[in-house]
Amino acid sequence: MPQTAVHDAALPVHDGGEVDWARVRADFPLLMREVHGKPLVYFDNANTGQKPLPVIASQDAFYRRQNANVSRAVHALGTEATEAYEGARNKLARFLNVRADELVLCSGTTFAINLVAYSWALPRLKPGDVVLVSRMEHHANIVPWQLVAQRTGATVRVAEILPDGRLDLEALYRAMTPQVKLLAVTHVSNVLGTINPVREICRQARRHGIVTVVDGSQAVPHLKLDVAAIGCDFYAVTGHKMCAPTGTGALWARREHLEAMPPFIGGGEMIKEVSFEGTVFNDPPHKFEAGTPNIAGFVGLGAAVDYLESVGMDNIAAREAELLAHATRALQAIPGLRIFGTAPDKAGVISFLVDGAHAHDLATLLDLEGVAVRSGQHCAHPLLQFFGVAATVRASLAFYNTHEEIERFAAALRKVRQLLC
Ligand code: PMP
Repeated sequence: MPQTAVHDAALPVHDGGEVDWARVRADFPLLMREVHGKPLVYFDNANTGQKPLPVIASQDAFYRRQNANVSRAVHALGTEATEAYEGARNKLARFLNVRADELVLCSGTTFAINLVAYSWALPRLKPGDVVLVSRMEHHANIVPWQLVAQRTGATVRVAEILPDGRLDLEALYRAMTPQVKLLAVTHVSNVLGTINPVREICRQARRHGIVTVVDGSQAVPHLKLDVAAIGCDFYAVTGHKMCAPTGTGALWARREHLEAMPPFIGGGEMIKEVSFEGTVFNDPPHKFEAGTPNIAGFVGLGAAVDYLESVGMDNIAAREAELLAHATRALQAIPGLRIFGTAPDKAGVISFLVDGAHAHDLATLLDLEGVAVRSGQHCAHPLLQFFGVAATVRASLAFYNTHEEIERFAAALRKVRQLLC
């Protein structure tokens, strides 16, 4: 791509074969820093991911050489910026295995789900209709449905989980009654790490004529995805958890939905013609992209896709499975430690508590040891209510983490536990 040409010679390239993980890690400059005088162990990847050199360089290159608005200018820079922006859409579409003209670029999963809520659900739902959501949803996949339910007279029904953090599939399928118009479910839980069998879930939903929204924000960074094969109606992704800049993401939707949905936000870019007598909207996906987008951010998203593909998503998934197994063993050896979410099919997320210690105290003292983990409710209050706890500590892993970091994390946790318990 022209936007990175000035830096290409210096940028790391991986060939997706036998991966040298030390070299991969060296692509992430932030991981070299210290915190409180200790080498950083960054285990908050489910919150946001770190960025590799090609993504960082793409931001610099864009603003040095190409900055212009998209689709509005015929001059060379405008054309290049538009090509770079549309190039990112094409890359992401290929990465997800969907059509580029079915991919709406937006600020992230929260916007993507709200777009479905306001453009698809709001005009369709009626009193008595039901939106089915699972117990393990992030607030971004609960609150928009509650807001739309309030305005339409529909209700939100909850599909429960099992104590090990799997979805109760039998209960979910039983809950698919004729009143259910839409099912919103996460692909991977940001708290439990559970990987839900979304393909089978969507197949069952289709049999009942239920439209499906899959929250893919925790799946895209960790799994090799084929969104077309999942068979859902909508799939939401977030860029900042997959090595891309913040404020980037996308909604994939079947073309017929995008054609039928009214725009969510109005303004420039999303129109063909405006007069006071009426406005003709642009074709999807541009119909849903009013205003100046986060152009540099999406150029970075394109660079992130290139980077992830160069390492290889299969390699990434295998590496993270290995790190997860190691971290799980290391934590299970700590007395009084309880892990929330032990489903057999899990991504690299471990939520836990230690008897006698508060989650925030654990996270604060771990921070002083250089270990960044998240504590709290992880934007999933109903899920924590199920487990009857006010907060957990969450360690979330990425492919650039190391076995040595896991050992340092476990040692820090033992030390902190002795201070607190
Ligand atoms: N869903 C899940 C499962 C998440 O983990 C997150 C981010 N924590 C979101 C939705 C919201 O994503 P964003 O803030 O990027 O819109």
